[in-house]
Amino acid sequence: LILSFSGLSILTIYISKIFEDNSDTLAELSIRDALTGVYNRRFITDFLQNELDTAEKTGNKIYVLMLDIDQFKQINDTYGHGFGDHVLLACVQAAQGVLKKGDVIARYGGDEFAVILRSPTPIRAAEVGERILQAISALRFRYEVTVTASIGIEQAQPDDTIETLLDRADQCMYYAKQNGRNQIVNGSIMQPF
Ligand code: GH3
Ligand code: MG
Repeated sequence: LILSFSGLSILTIYISKIFEDNSDTLAELSIRDALTGVYNRRFITDFLQNELDTAEKTGNKIYVLMLDIDQFKQINDTYGHGFGDHVLLACVQAAQGVLKKGDVIARYGGDEFAVILRSPTPIRAAEVGERILQAISALRFRYEVTVTASIGIEQAQPDDTIETLLDRADQCMYYAKQNGRNQIVNGSIMQPF
């Protein structure tokens, strides 16, 4: 009787461990982008909300970089969607290589990515952006394909909501596209033209 009781207890512990592991995996999957493995839009908006809520207390300076791959549709159209996926993943890995612990990158949608930096100065945030652009343009793909990206940077202001902050960063990225792509427009240190 004792033996069967302890056997049952072990089995119960084992089964609950399996459920625990699975729910951890499910929770993790729900905040990740399936293709690139980085965080998804839902996660980054929640994360940013929390950063904005606590910024006053922590004194953290928050910068948002919106990054969009240049002429990405052309890559898909010329070499196929599978090749496009490969390029997308390589770009994300190049950007991740520049980031430090505590920085967060997420796929915001399609070929657009949001990066949250806790950078002490706008110049430092711009340096990170520059290094990401360099890392992406240094990638070499099959068929001698190369790729570039455009970045908009904005610093969170005390009265910002997620929407106002992301909109401004997006606007800066849009200016970078309009001004010829493969560049950064940093709304934190200069007014877009
Ligand atoms: P721009 O420089 O103005 O950003 O030009 P673009 O061609 O990159 O811009 P656009 O937004 O028109 O195209 C983005 C493309 O990204 C369109 C869509 O087919 C492609 N795309 C979105 N998600 C994926 C994906 O998961 N895989 C692949 N291969 N392509 C994707
Ligand atoms: Mg694009």
